[in-house]
Amino acid sequence: MNNKINKIKLDSMSLEIGETTREIECPSCGAKDGGFVVTRLEEGLVYVCHHASCGYKGFTPSLGFSYQKKRDSLFKSREYPNPLGRIPANMSRVLVQRYSLEPSVVSSERFKWDSHRKRLVMPIFDLEGRECGLVAKDMSGGESTLPKSITYWYNDVIKLHFPLANGELFDKTTVYVVEDILSAVRIAKEGVPSVAMLGSHLREDQIALLAKNFYSAVFAFDPDATHKAIGYANKFHLAFKGGISTVHLPDDPKDMGEDELKGWLNEV
Ligand SMILES: [Zn+2]
Repeated sequence: MNNKINKIKLDSMSLEIGETTREIECPSCGAKDGGFVVTRLEEGLVYVCHHASCGYKGFTPSLGFSYQKKRDSLFKSREYPNPLGRIPANMSRVLVQRYSLEPSVVSSERFKWDSHRKRLVMPIFDLEGRECGLVAKDMSGGESTLPKSITYWYNDVIKLHFPLANGELFDKTTVYVVEDILSAVRIAKEGVPSVAMLGSHLREDQIALLAKNFYSAVFAFDPDATHKAIGYANKFHLAFKGGISTVHLPDDPKDMGEDELKGWLNEV
């Protein structure tokens, strides 16, 4: 298959029908400043690069069946393909240095390691702490041809991750909505309830679950998705009794230093 189109398809895996993303790199000119736009339609993906010097565009069909059906059929076979083990010492050091995650937190969140693919494997927990899937994050430093992060679901649940570190925090009334598991764990660890969207798309069933369990929400998306956070906040504001606020972060929460994250949480 055409490599460029293959890349667009892989990068757009999480797009729902009718959704548009500007977060994908143009496979033709390499721009990743939002100039490359991909929309998923029932029939396939429409893509266009708005850089005048590039202009790469086209349409690639779903293979004769709708994307949702394709995803449902994938869903059934999503067992993780490799054996999982303990996080090796060198990776443990990386997690402390890069994400300020001590081994005790890593172990209480039940992170594991895929030595074959060099992936950090993080279980996805629902609101009640039941494991309902996992995310395998590439830590190889770019050797892999697979997507950087792959999500596996064991069953058909509302797709959100609640860190176990949230524990007794759930009687607090505001939840911080972030994109990825590491960011959610970092925030929960500071005594603030958090949830990971596992991407930067929010659906109505996800909002409904959050609004039922929390008085208000703070959308703390990664810096490149602030515009998206504002859009969602406007759209879903009335769902929460206490409304939704958005924050513009200097960095992804997972990449902030310990003091920086603490300082930022105190400010909000
Ligand atoms: Zn381009």
